[in-house]
Amino acid sequence: MTAIWFPTDEVLVGGVWSRLDGTLPVIDPSTGEGIGAIARGGADQIDAAVAAARAALTGDWGRLTAAERGRLMARLAGLIRERAEDLALIEALDVGKPLTQARADALAMARYFEFYGGAADKVMGDTIPYLDGYSVWTLREPHGVTAHIVPWNYPMQILGRSVGAALAMGNACVVKPAEDACLTALALARLADEAGFPAGAINIVTGLGSEAGAALAGHPGINHVSFTGSVGVGRAIQAAAAQNIVPVTLELGGKSPQIVYADADLDRALPFLVNAGIQNAGQTCSCGARILVERPRMAEVVDRMADRYRALRVGPALDDLDLGPLISARQKATVERYLAQGAGLTVAAQGTIVEGAPEGGHYVAPTLFTDVSPDHVLAREEIFGPAQVVIPFDTEDEAIAIANGTDYGLVAGVWTADMGRALRASRRIRSGQVFLNNYGAGGGVELPFGGHGLSGHGREKGFEALYGFSTLKTVAAWHG
Ligand code: NAD
Repeated sequence: MTAIWFPTDEVLVGGVWSRLDGTLPVIDPSTGEGIGAIARGGADQIDAAVAAARAALTGDWGRLTAAERGRLMARLAGLIRERAEDLALIEALDVGKPLTQARADALAMARYFEFYGGAADKVMGDTIPYLDGYSVWTLREPHGVTAHIVPWNYPMQILGRSVGAALAMGNACVVKPAEDACLTALALARLADEAGFPAGAINIVTGLGSEAGAALAGHPGINHVSFTGSVGVGRAIQAAAAQNIVPVTLELGGKSPQIVYADADLDRALPFLVNAGIQNAGQTCSCGARILVERPRMAEVVDRMADRYRALRVGPALDDLDLGPLISARQKATVERYLAQGAGLTVAAQGTIVEGAPEGGHYVAPTLFTDVSPDHVLAREEIFGPAQVVIPFDTEDEAIAIANGTDYGLVAGVWTADMGRALRASRRIRSGQVFLNNYGAGGGVELPFGGHGLSGHGREKGFEALYGFSTLKTVAAWHG
């Protein structure tokens, strides 16, 4: 616990850290044991945080130029890099991420603040040819107070991508981290203090989704909501935002396909095929959960993936193995319910939970199912755990139909030596991102990301997010 250099049971409102009467436990998923407490914020703290953010917009924060905002964000990115080891250790303890993944998340968060800090003074409007005697131009302005409801699977990356883009555009943020994953959000806010962010630019209220989260999503003082998490809560958030007529960005996961044609370079594809399924123990919105294989290579793909699966080891986050535990006992139970529904399917291989892994940890062995029908529940619903299904196909049309055959549409991968076929697939697949002969491409801070259907709407990441976190004003001047 030495990595945690700050009190974890305080909320940050208007530049002031304070303790509350109620707390919630912090559980280490690797052991199932309590390691501390966070504050149980609710409607009162959300009211205060929204008011503080509103005041910041007309105060020191709102008066900064875009270049000054960018400089502050670059300073924050530098502090994140300096503290990356501490942040990784905190994340490993708090959410059970193997240290290597936690380290990568900390550096990705730094990269978001670098990227958006660098972009802050490069977002420009247009001039529009119009009627005789007029000059017309557009201005990109902040929404105002933005709400950020963050999940537990990539706490640092998702905070970095949404808060980074929002701050770059001059919004003031109210953040509600997931109750199972608050510590790195609190650490980030401490580092923002150190970087010199004015009071109220970033406010953090920890607490339950049904209390602090619901109060924030429905607050009449917010001007935009960004949410990543489950479809059910996404619906509730969109309904709450509808009452206030404010825009929402929803990123709700997926059931992403990877199509492997018979001419694919399997040596290149195989590590991606497996990693996209087991990274973060499958608790990844862009998890490459469905492996669609052209029938002539089916046996070879399954054999080679199975070899890799048999070598996968699951254990405590600090042991830094292939997979850590799932976030919570509840998530483990959900995943196990799904796996039980695969009872009639062929299991090609499973990984191993290492000997000595604590009894109370939330471990699930990764499982590869093969020869699965695209209609099977495990091929249609998001499991959000370490399980992949292999589905055979015979023709290009069939592959595309299966790829597009779920209610989601977030990410897709296509593996083939035929570039024409790859490009056709990139047009025909309905998803927010398509990767040709790769999957995930280095994390993709720069790459716009978001979904269709149940995967949500709006785009985060990349330059595109700056448009989502701003509103456009048209100015028409008559000068005769
Ligand atoms: P969740 O959707 O309940 O929680 C995500 C965030 O929403 C948390 O900060 C939570 O406190 C908040 N929240 C919950 N109820 C709320 C409400 N009524 N109003 C406002 N905010 C609320 O996710 P979960 O229960 O922790 O996980 C369940 C499932 O969600 C997972 O199995 C997975 O399928 C999905 N999920 C997806 C992602 C993703 O990256 N798309 C991330 C996490 C979870």
